[in-house]
Amino acid sequence: MKILIVEDEQKTGDYLKQGLSEAGFMVDLVRDGLDGMHLALTGDYDLVVLDVMLPGLNGWQVLQRIRQGGKQMPVLFLTARDQIEDRVKGLELGADDYLVKPFAFSELLARVRTLLRRSKTNEPQLLQAADLELDLLRRRVTRAGKRIDLTAKEFALLELLLRRQGEVLPRSLIASQIWDMNFDSDTNVIEVAIRRLRAKIDDDFEPKLIRTLRGMGYVLEIPEPQ
Ligand code: CA
Repeated sequence: MKILIVEDEQKTGDYLKQGLSEAGFMVDLVRDGLDGMHLALTGDYDLVVLDVMLPGLNGWQVLQRIRQGGKQMPVLFLTARDQIEDRVKGLELGADDYLVKPFAFSELLARVRTLLRRSKTNEPQLLQAADLELDLLRRRVTRAGKRIDLTAKEFALLELLLRRQGEVLPRSLIASQIWDMNFDSDTNVIEVAIRRLRAKIDDDFEPKLIRTLRGMGYVLEIPEPQ
């Protein structure tokens, strides 16, 4: 587990680096907001400990740019007691937790471990197959970078197919998961929904991702090259 510390106060920085290293983490320490931003965006960190008052860029700016750069690792904000509004601002900008200075190292370590545990169990936010992407957070689907509008049911159906990519999903399973109904062989609601979904995500693109297995169900997978 790799942690980045961005803290300009010499003593606090050294103390954090030493403590976290002894706790078994790989730790990088920088003392400037700009360096912190660059490392956070380019390095492979599992967590960032970020001070608010920093030379170069302040902690909020660093945090904002980390998130704009698409990095989702947890960020633990360090804030002074007299900057308590920072806390609110930091959380709004996407900080995951904060600690008010001065703090006990044991408290910081506990927060770090909780954040790392939480982020490890996080669901992936992006489901993909070839150039098809489904963004769970923004509820957005694109294929080859092109935005595709889906109804709520179509979105749920595509999400299910992507989550169980390569697996043949029987109609009865799709019916129970998406329509919350028992499979009734008289209904063609699933066939219709699959057809509409295909028209949106497969018809104008290659390779075709959704396949029908007659009598068995549907599968979404990247076809083997011929
Ligand atoms: Ca500082």
